[in-house]
Amino acid sequence: MAAETTWRGRPNSFEMKPAPFHYHAPTTVEEAVALLAEHAPDDGRVLAGGQSLVPTMAFRLARPAHLIDINGVAGLDRLEVEGGRLCIGATVRHAAFERPAVEGTLGLLMSEVSRHIAHRPIRTRGTFCGSIAHADPASEWCALAATLDAEMMAISTRGVRLISAPDFFKGLMTTALEEDELLAEVRLPMLRPDVQFGFCEFNRRAGDFAIAMAYAIYLLQDGVIAESRIAIGGAEAMPRRIVEAEYALKGRQPTSDSFMLAAEIAAKKVDPLDDEHTSAGYRRDLVLAMVRRALEQARDRGAA
Ligand SMILES: Cc1cc2nc3c(=O)[nH]c(=O)nc-3n(C[C@H](O)[C@H](O)[C@H](O)COP(=O)(O)OP(=O)(O)OC[C@H]3O[C@@H](n4cnc5c(N)ncnc54)[C@H](O)[C@@H]3O)c2cc1C
Repeated sequence: MAAETTWRGRPNSFEMKPAPFHYHAPTTVEEAVALLAEHAPDDGRVLAGGQSLVPTMAFRLARPAHLIDINGVAGLDRLEVEGGRLCIGATVRHAAFERPAVEGTLGLLMSEVSRHIAHRPIRTRGTFCGSIAHADPASEWCALAATLDAEMMAISTRGVRLISAPDFFKGLMTTALEEDELLAEVRLPMLRPDVQFGFCEFNRRAGDFAIAMAYAIYLLQDGVIAESRIAIGGAEAMPRRIVEAEYALKGRQPTSDSFMLAAEIAAKKVDPLDDEHTSAGYRRDLVLAMVRRALEQARDRGAA
């Protein structure tokens, strides 16, 4: 049964607090999407971990009239492997991945990456799907979704939609989600046990959003790279695979020269952000370094 209350702020307070909003606490997906259908046109928003939304509300940069809190919705905490894919429900926290959530390569990769996301208190509240819906260009999970061509399951009163990562990320903090759609689940393909992976990111202080990051995953056959995935995050408006760099690696031995070639191609192909954090030129240089290091990490891990 959905509950509703209204937050009106503190009277006569000079503190910077959220603008008044109605708070809804649905307990089923059906209730949640019905509330979204009713209130999304009036800037009704999903509240997941609140680690991005609540700070913007506190500064009144966001003033949603309705918050639809999905934390009590049954079934959204699903985290299980089904049909060769890891299914991650909308209330699964970043912290769920700190220890491998699944056996095998994907669990290890996510465990390593999760430690780069913010700080522990944020990781215990913030959700995997919230990061994907928020689509910050520097989100580690968004870049992972792009690397693995994840599938997003969106639900509304109109039905269920499956959206693949290349169609999902549309631009700077912009996705294919409609305003009345709930991102109910993200599905990541499990990785073969014999692939090698690396992840590298650069930020000024531990826990900050990355200025640039790279994922590198490849499969060796007969001593040469048979297939690979190279993706970047943080450097452009949205994360994406750099297929030209992947193509360049095909059939090559995993040597420093091969990795440098792929990294140079990636750096050439990016359209880097130029903002208050750093210049486009510096980001381009970082892409080169991140891709090269992620590939080297993959090779060294395989050799260990
Ligand atoms: C100091 C600080 C440092 C941080 N550092 C990092 C970092 O290094 N890397 C990183 O990736 N993130 C970082 N974050 C962000 C953090 O990971 C957030 O948890 C995450 O971006 C959003 O997840 P959330 O569950 O908190 O979403 P919320 O804040 O609840 O929501 C964010 C937005 O997504 C929408 N939304 C959320 N869930 C859904 C859903 N299921 N369906 C539809 N819409 C939805 C909301 O309506 C809202 O618009 C940082 C945050 C802080 C405060």
